[in-house]
Amino acid sequence: MTHDQNLLLPWVRCDQLPDLWRAARKVGLARSNIRLLTDMIACPGGDFCALANARSIPIAAAIHQRYQDLDELHDLGEIDLHISGCMNSCGHHHSGHIGILGVDKDGQEWYQVSLGGSDGSSLSGAPIPGKVVGPSFEAAEVPDVIEAVLDSYRRERRPGETFIATFRRIGIEAFAQAANGARQTACAEFA
Ligand code: SF4
Repeated sequence: MTHDQNLLLPWVRCDQLPDLWRAARKVGLARSNIRLLTDMIACPGGDFCALANARSIPIAAAIHQRYQDLDELHDLGEIDLHISGCMNSCGHHHSGHIGILGVDKDGQEWYQVSLGGSDGSSLSGAPIPGKVVGPSFEAAEVPDVIEAVLDSYRRERRPGETFIATFRRIGIEAFAQAANGARQTACAEFA
């Protein structure tokens, strides 16, 4: 298991690769989305972890469900999306290009979204934590927020420019505005 939650099968003979691919495909493990949006990192969150403030897996599943189209995923290109269910940060949300952190407000699950983080990889550049976008969002809002941020990227990007490169060029403002525009409920700080 790699740190980004993929299975790595070493020492497979070349002549056995097609059979392995067919077997993996049958159980849903042969999707060509490595390094793309749905190749995300999500901690176990509130479904399995007693320390959690919020669930991570349903958020990951909802985003996964919305982005099923491989052509769209490849068009969006390489994006690191990380989700943690609490500040212990096992999902490394702070270092994701898009980070989602579960927070507890009055016993309810909320999600703080951050943008522009880097884990120091060749794709992402020098390590830096993402910048937080406005007040937290409700669980049901999160997929819309992610979609709004990605639509904003599609509008602003230059040919061949990755999400993180566009973010660094234009800054957080356009993305934050798009994310906050996806709120379904009135928020006191935006009233
Ligand atoms: S980040 Fe929090 S909720 Fe997620 S696995 Fe770690 S301790 Fe549990």
